[in-house]
Amino acid sequence: MLTSICGINWGDEGKGRMVDLLSSDFDVVCRYQGGNNAGHTVINDKGKFILNLLPSGILREDVVNVMGNGMVIDLKHLSGEIERLREKGIRISPENLKISDKAVITMPYHVMQDCLEEDRLAGKKFGSTRRGIAPVYADKYMKKAFRMGELLHFDRLLARLPDIVEWKNLTVEGGYHAERVTVEAMREYFENYGLPPKDYICDVGVYLNEAHKAGKKIMFEAQLGALRDIDFGIYPYTSSSSTIAAYAPIGAGVPNLQLDNSIGIMKAYSSCVGEGPFVCEYFGEKAERLRALGGEYGAATGRPRRVGPFDVLASRYGIRCQGAREIALTKLDVLSDYEEIEVCVGYELDGKRLREFPFTDVLADCKPVFEKVKGWHCDISACRRKEDLPKEALDYIAYLEKACDCYIKYVSVGAEREAYIVM
Ligand code: GDP
Ligand code: MG
Repeated sequence: MLTSICGINWGDEGKGRMVDLLSSDFDVVCRYQGGNNAGHTVINDKGKFILNLLPSGILREDVVNVMGNGMVIDLKHLSGEIERLREKGIRISPENLKISDKAVITMPYHVMQDCLEEDRLAGKKFGSTRRGIAPVYADKYMKKAFRMGELLHFDRLLARLPDIVEWKNLTVEGGYHAERVTVEAMREYFENYGLPPKDYICDVGVYLNEAHKAGKKIMFEAQLGALRDIDFGIYPYTSSSSTIAAYAPIGAGVPNLQLDNSIGIMKAYSSCVGEGPFVCEYFGEKAERLRALGGEYGAATGRPRRVGPFDVLASRYGIRCQGAREIALTKLDVLSDYEEIEVCVGYELDGKRLREFPFTDVLADCKPVFEKVKGWHCDISACRRKEDLPKEALDYIAYLEKACDCYIKYVSVGAEREAYIVM
């Protein structure tokens, strides 16, 4: 059984916390795209964790975690993340962590290139997390990247290194006039941080196919949401990888297998970190209130997130892109403070109502259309059953289901593992 857990919106929907919760039913959790630009916050009986590279299943004793070929892996970051988790008593071994030999390595010069470019852009910046993600994916498709499996053939990797460094210096030194990348420094990076994870590296496709045959339940964990997907998101304000559920089997290492289910994580209101058009955005006091109520500051970067009410057009588009059959609606408790809750029910362009989420370039000219629904205006964070929820909260859920033509199966009312309701 293969299930994908994916983001319906702009990211930070609470995917990490839902993977942590739902993984109790799964044997394997795979990350299939992105790198350490992800920030998944998980709070459970072991403490509070922010995961950037490791799949969220790493916090469960009996779950095997896979980092797939669709990922880009910063070796230094990986080593630090493993260290931090071990200090908190989390067991990590080749038994419960498998890294694809085909996953791509993020190099220090990718991080450098990312920073150089953001600095060059200055006021026109895209809001990169400065973790080298766009440059490393670019190199992957330029076929100039290193892959994890090469660490197992270190002599050959070292033989390839000088050519790559020379090529990279055409950009770093030649283009940006920055300090030269040296072969020695890169060799040190591989030696210091690349040799320890060797035990985890394998053809994860072999493992996943065997697990699937044996009837194990496999979950794919996305980073970011549909609207940040490289193809379907608000390009160029997107991530550099496919965040879409249909890509999950490919990015995890099992292109031969098909998804049985896709669970979309959708937030009860909207948030968006970084740049790009965000039609439903709140400004001023309205924004500050919602940001404070939702604690909307980036898990990976600490940046204040832009916020707005639930966006019907964008969410409906996200649900379609993700092929989500079931929805987990998160952070409903954040709206408890409001007597009336606003919803962005559509966009207007040149005086006309749009029926579908439009092409990115058009978004800047769209005006949000807001509608108000009655709030419940009481604390719902202790609710654990559908019957515990006030009528207005149930109405809000039903309203979103109808507006987005979806099935909301789970609702979360707090950040802790158990703060959720099965509808
Ligand atoms: P992800 O990137 O999709 O995994 O989401 P993040 O972890 O970046 O952001 C979600 C934030 O909301 C985290 O700080 C979570 O602890 C928190 N959170 C998740 N679910 C809920 C919820 O139901 N209620 C509240 N109040 N906070 C939640
Ligand atoms: Mg996040």
